[in-house]
Amino acid sequence: MAANKTLLMLPGDGIGPEVMAVVKRVIEWFARRRALRFEVEEGLIGGASYDVHGTPLADETLERARAADAVLLGAVGGPKWDGLEFSRKPERGLLRIRKEMGLFANLRPAVVFPALAEASTLKTEIVSGLDIMIVRELTGGIYFGEPRGIEDLGGGERRGFNTLVYTTSEIRRVGRVAFELARKRQGRVCSIDKANVLEATVLWREEMARLGAEEFPDVALSHMYVDNAAMQLVRDPKQFDVIVTTNMFGDILSDCAAMLTGSLGMLPSASLGAEQDGRIPALYEPVHGSAPDIAGRDLANPLASLLSFGMMLRYSFDLQAEADLIDAAISNILASGLRTADIMQPGKAKVSTSVMSDALIRELDKLAAKA
Ligand code: NAD
Repeated sequence: MAANKTLLMLPGDGIGPEVMAVVKRVIEWFARRRALRFEVEEGLIGGASYDVHGTPLADETLERARAADAVLLGAVGGPKWDGLEFSRKPERGLLRIRKEMGLFANLRPAVVFPALAEASTLKTEIVSGLDIMIVRELTGGIYFGEPRGIEDLGGGERRGFNTLVYTTSEIRRVGRVAFELARKRQGRVCSIDKANVLEATVLWREEMARLGAEEFPDVALSHMYVDNAAMQLVRDPKQFDVIVTTNMFGDILSDCAAMLTGSLGMLPSASLGAEQDGRIPALYEPVHGSAPDIAGRDLANPLASLLSFGMMLRYSFDLQAEADLIDAAISNILASGLRTADIMQPGKAKVSTSVMSDALIRELDKLAAKA
């Protein structure tokens, strides 16, 4: 295949560049062995961008992200930049790119690979075979609502405030993504809110119900309060198929779901925007952060990033067979007993990022030889 697809890679900070290096090897493997070529460009985001441009996301990088067919991001942040003023913090780069690319739907699958079912802190029978998809609203809600700030009330007293706000169209567009996904899965959506306390989520519940009845009568819709959802996720996670929820609730619940799978190092994500000129803006990234505690030590688990690349193949380029190949390589490697430290289990072989990377390439070679 000719190199007609552009991919902007933004490795970021901490373990970001280490895990992206593994993805690069796999991209090169696809070019070499499957004649699947991407035009891969690289750019800076987060602290790495701040150090060069004085901002966590330069306008020029944003333009390149908008022009690319897909963006693949590592992670941002680290103690080096913790003291920066809020608007210059690495994490602002991430919030800005999501907002400016209009990426309103964040897809976070939580899938338990058979070989890792025992790595979860939950009982094996609770998590084995788990396959849920969390759809988080990403550009609205309390993370972006105005007014916001910290004000001085005098006399040593201060007041911090944020605003939780959602409109009908913001709710319906992310709802549509969830309903569409459910149609290709088990046909069930659970919408999560706090409609017993927060008016903004009363509207959320009403709009989800209306959308379901009007456009997706074939999908079973249920509603749940977020406190109960947190409990249900650890009590009986397999009751869920697709979960759709607000920005902040999704942020928290998806990290909770991460632990069901054993490690943050196994969780990929996709963020999608609205179709424009036949193209859906998309950014793929692991759920984990820059892990400063292990950065630069060849310890990071690269699988969440590789699974994110697999999601990119699936959702942006409709390359199902290639995405399946990545899933199979990961599954086989885990079954063979290789583990990075974060998913280490008794009796398994603890390996570095680079050994895991070598093993992945060997496994891809093996699978390609069989096919
Ligand atoms: P983190 O996800 O970076 O790390 C949490 C724990 O999980 C750490 O012990 C870390 O070593 C481990 N871990 C994470 N990813 C791993 C991997 N691939 N392999 C092995 N172990 C892994 O979260 P944190 O420590 O709360 O935050 C660190 C920095 O990352 C902060 O600056 C934070 O703001 C930032 N952050 C960025 C993102 C992002 O870029 N999307 C997300 C969350 C946090």
